[in-house]
Amino acid sequence: MTDQRREDLLVTESLDAGYAGVPVLRGIDLSVPTGSLAVVLGANGAGKTTLLRSIMGLAERHGGTVRVAGEECGHDPVDMLARGVVMVPEGRRLFGDLTVDENLETGALVGVATARRSELRDMVFDLFPRVRERVDQRARTLSGGEQQMVAIGRALMSDPSTLLIDEASLGLAPVIVDDLFDMIADVNRAGITVVAVEQNLAVLDLASHGYLLEQGRMRAGGSMETHGAQIRALITEAYLGVDDTKEVGA
Ligand code: ATP
Repeated sequence: MTDQRREDLLVTESLDAGYAGVPVLRGIDLSVPTGSLAVVLGANGAGKTTLLRSIMGLAERHGGTVRVAGEECGHDPVDMLARGVVMVPEGRRLFGDLTVDENLETGALVGVATARRSELRDMVFDLFPRVRERVDQRARTLSGGEQQMVAIGRALMSDPSTLLIDEASLGLAPVIVDDLFDMIADVNRAGITVVAVEQNLAVLDLASHGYLLEQGRMRAGGSMETHGAQIRALITEAYLGVDDTKEVGA
């Protein structure tokens, strides 16, 4: 491993993962620098959710390592939370009968001090003014976009350094997706490292780092600043099914 990779906030090396002994991911190398907004694109079934779940210790890890801030992590969701890594699951998974505020509060149950909770709540309201407006509304009565904002807000209430976001755009209208992606960029600008897995190519416009996952393998990846054109070309080709012979490394 290079010194640069060793210093990155979240690093997977040769990560193999799956379910019930059946492999889904093979040899995944992912390196997410502190403060970056990394995007992992891939088609249905490519293994995007499995990647986030295996980092979090929620899918089986068959081999390889996960490091946070240079330390190798066990396969334990509680340990990952303690290290400041939190996941926003696909499909939001809010408590529909609880209010927005009560849903946010569940995110702070991981032991965030009371004084810090009110600072975090203010941060969530600044990032998502719509959430503030709907604070007493039951979560099940929110629109899909609003529910996604609350799901991200709930994760922020645990005071994370790294947010893993699983397909925030799922089931949302394009205009809502654009707003939501802008908000994810705002979350990143607030100092939180983000790993967003997506099928929606528009997310690349926000990315500092882009990766392509295909059939459980990482095909391409790296800094958009230095390799953006190549990464975009490769991802577009993969999505359009044109040319699958090129590789990009960074
Ligand atoms: P999508 O965009 O459809 O959510 P994805 O890229 O997130 O897809 P995964 O959900 O990670 O892909 O699924 C990758 C593979 O793992 C698929 O073949 C899927 O059937 C399998 N898989 C996912 N979850 C499980 C599970 N709980 N048990 C067994 N196999 C699973």
